[in-house]
Amino acid sequence: MGEQIPLHTVTPDRSRFTDSGKIQTRSFTGYFRRLRIIGCSVLFLLFFGTVWLSWGGRQAVLWDLSTRQFHIFGSTFWPEDLVLLSAILIICAFGLFFVTVLAGRVWCGYACPQSVWTWVFLWVEKVTEGDRHQRLRLDNAPMTRHKFLRRARKHALWLLISLATGITFVGYFTPIRELAQDMATLQVGGMALFWVFFFTLATYLNAGWLREKVCLHMCPYGRFQSSMLDEDSLLITYDVARGEPRGARKKEADYRSQGLGDCIDCQMCVQVCPTGIDIRDGLQMECIGCAACIDACDSIMDRMGYDRGLIRYTSERALKGGRPRILRPKLLGYAALLLVMIGAFGWGLVSRPLLTLDVSKDRGLYRYTAGGDVENSYVLTVRNKERSPRTYHLQVAGLEGAQLNRSVSGQVPGGKAVDIPVAISMDARDLKQPSNPVEFRLVFDHGVTVSESSQFTAAVR
Ligand code: SF4
Ligand code: SF4
Repeated sequence: MGEQIPLHTVTPDRSRFTDSGKIQTRSFTGYFRRLRIIGCSVLFLLFFGTVWLSWGGRQAVLWDLSTRQFHIFGSTFWPEDLVLLSAILIICAFGLFFVTVLAGRVWCGYACPQSVWTWVFLWVEKVTEGDRHQRLRLDNAPMTRHKFLRRARKHALWLLISLATGITFVGYFTPIRELAQDMATLQVGGMALFWVFFFTLATYLNAGWLREKVCLHMCPYGRFQSSMLDEDSLLITYDVARGEPRGARKKEADYRSQGLGDCIDCQMCVQVCPTGIDIRDGLQMECIGCAACIDACDSIMDRMGYDRGLIRYTSERALKGGRPRILRPKLLGYAALLLVMIGAFGWGLVSRPLLTLDVSKDRGLYRYTAGGDVENSYVLTVRNKERSPRTYHLQVAGLEGAQLNRSVSGQVPGGKAVDIPVAISMDARDLKQPSNPVEFRLVFDHGVTVSESSQFTAAVR
C-alpha cells in the first residue's frame, strides 16, 4: 500500500481580500479553464436538459413521489428495487474514490455542482461588476446609485439562475411540464412551491454567498480525502525545489546568480484561488483541485520566458525524483470493487422480475357462504414493471377442492400496479387443519407465470 500524503489546514490570510474578507478572484484563461468550461457546460446541459426529455410517452427521468416510482429512460424502479438504487449510489462512491486515488480532487474542481454553480456565479459577478480590481474598488466604495445598480443586476441574475435551478430540480420529482405550466399560471401547489423556493434559496446562498465555505467547512469529502491519496496520486503541486527562493526580479535578470528560484512571487496563483489559499504552502485540505493556479502560473512563466509547470499536476513520488506508478494496490482495489458493483448492479437489473405478485389476506379469518362452504378473501397486488400492458388469468393451486368464486382475468397497464380483490371457497369437511397453504398463479399472455403463496383458514370440525 502506498504511503499516505499528509494534508494540512491553512487559514487563508484574509488581509489579501476585501475589508470584509470576501475572496475576489482574478480570472485567467488557460488550458484548465477551458476544461472547466467544458465540464460546467456539460453538467449544465445535462441538468437543465435531461428533465425535458421524453421516453416512451413520459418524462425520461422522473422520481414520481406520488406513485413512489423512479422512471429512468424506459426502466421503472419500484420501492422494492431500493437495493438496485442503493447499488447506483455505491457505484458512484467507489467511482469517486477511484478517481480521487488516481487524480486527486478532480471531481471537486471540475464537476461538483457546488463548484460548477459557483464558477457560473463568479462569471456573472465579473460580467456585472467588472474584473477583480473593479470589484475590489466597488466592495470598498460607499453605496451610491452606480454601486446599487451593479449589485442589483448581479443579484437579479443570480436569483434567476437559482430559480431556474430550483424549478428544474423539483422537476425531477414532479412532472416538469405540469410544474412549469403551474408556475407560469401561478397555480402551483403549496408543497411544490415550498421546494422550488427552498432549492432556489439554497442555490443562491451556496453559490452566491457561501461559496468556498461550503467546501471548507460543510463538505465531508474534503476532510477524508487525505486517507485516499497516496504518493502516486496526481495532485496540483508547487515545485518547491524549482521555485524557491522566491522573489521579484526583472524579466531579463540573471536571477540564478542572485540566488533566486523560478517563482517571481507575483501572487497570481493566490489571487485566482477560489478558496483563497497559497498553493506554495504545500498540499492543503482547502485545495479543491480546480487548477486555476496552474493556468495563472503558466501564463506568468510564459511572460517571463521560463518553462511552464512550476505549479503542475504531479505526484509526491515524481517530485522526489521517483518513477510514478499507475497500477498500485489501492487503485486496483477500488477498480475491482467498482467492477464487482457494476457487475452486481447489471445482473440485478437484468434478472429482476418485471411482473410481481403480492397477496394480502383479508383480516377476517373466514366466513361461510349460503351454500355452507367456507370462504377466505384476499387482495392480490400485481405490478407490471414493463412498458407494455400485460393480460393475465388467475388460477389457484396447492389446495385440493379450493376454487375461485369467479373467473379472474384482466389487464395491468405498463408501469402500473393494480389491486384485485378475490375470494376462494371450499367444503370445510375437506380440510384437515385450520391453516392450509394455497398458491395463487397469474398466467400472463406471453406465457410467464408468477405465483405467490398464502394461507386458507377455517375451523376444522
Ligand atoms: S490551490 Fe490552485 S488548485 Fe487548489 S483551489 Fe486554489 S487555485 Fe484551485
Ligand atoms: S503564480 Fe507562479 S510565479 Fe507567481 S507567485 Fe504563484 S508560483 Fe510564483
